[in-house]
Order: sequence, then C-alpha cells, then structure tokens
Amino acid sequence: MENSQADKKKCKGAKPDGSCCTVAALPGSDFCFFHDPARAGERQEAQALGGRRHCMKTLNADAPDVKVEDCQDVRLLIAETINQVRKGAIDPRVANAVGYLANVFIKAVEQGDLESRLKEIEAIVKNQRSSSELKVEI
Ligand SMILES: [Zn+2]
Repeated sequence: MENSQADKKKCKGAKPDGSCCTVAALPGSDFCFFHDPARAGERQEAQALGGRRHCMKTLNADAPDVKVEDCQDVRLLIAETINQVRKGAIDPRVANAVGYLANVFIKAVEQGDLESRLKEIEAIVKNQRSSSELKVEI
C-alpha cells in the first residue's frame, strides 16, 4: 500500500513558501491541478466559483445580534449595513439579504398596524350600528 503511494508521481510545482508541492501529479502531467500551467484557465474558473460559493464575507458569528422590533430599528440596521458593505465588512449579497428581510419586516409591521386599525374601525362601526338600531326600535 505504502509503495504504491510512493510510486505515484509528485507534482513538480512549489508551494507559496517555496517548498515542494507534495500533491500527486495529474495523469499525463508533471503537476497537480493547482500547479499545472495547462490548467490555469480551468483553475481560475474553479477558484472564482469556489470564491463565490464559499468566501462570502459576513460578520463574525459572535457579533452581537441587532434589535429589530420596530421601523426605527430597521432604519438603524439598514444604515449600519450600508456602511458595512461600503467598507467591505460584509458581502453585498449579505447586504441584499438584510435589505430583503428588512422589507419583509416592515411589511409585516404595516400589516399588523392595518389589522389593529381595521379592528378599531370595525368596533366603531358595530357600535354605531347597534346604537342606530336602538333608535329605530324606539
Ligand atoms: Zn502541485
């Protein structure tokens, strides 16, 4: 088992620190995927894709939670997010998600306001009806 490992051709590339690359060379090549000059384009694509997938800049997981209870809180959060994305502290996609969720939050708050106002109006109308019905009966 160990012999077959040792027999595998090692990459002739060098690591960033100058030491030899220890990764097995690709079949038909003197280099591994990361060092093969013939695969530079492919590698760049893979790195860009990997970057897009995995290296999304976010705040640290231990960053304090923000209070989001009313529209003023959302205003502060959006202002903070704008500055964070401007300074590169968070990925614009994270900022987009924050913006989207803030929108959903504000709509939910508005919906809640409308519902409570509607209930008040319904109660007033019901009161007026019952008092006018009383008048009719009299
Ligand atoms: Zn290599």
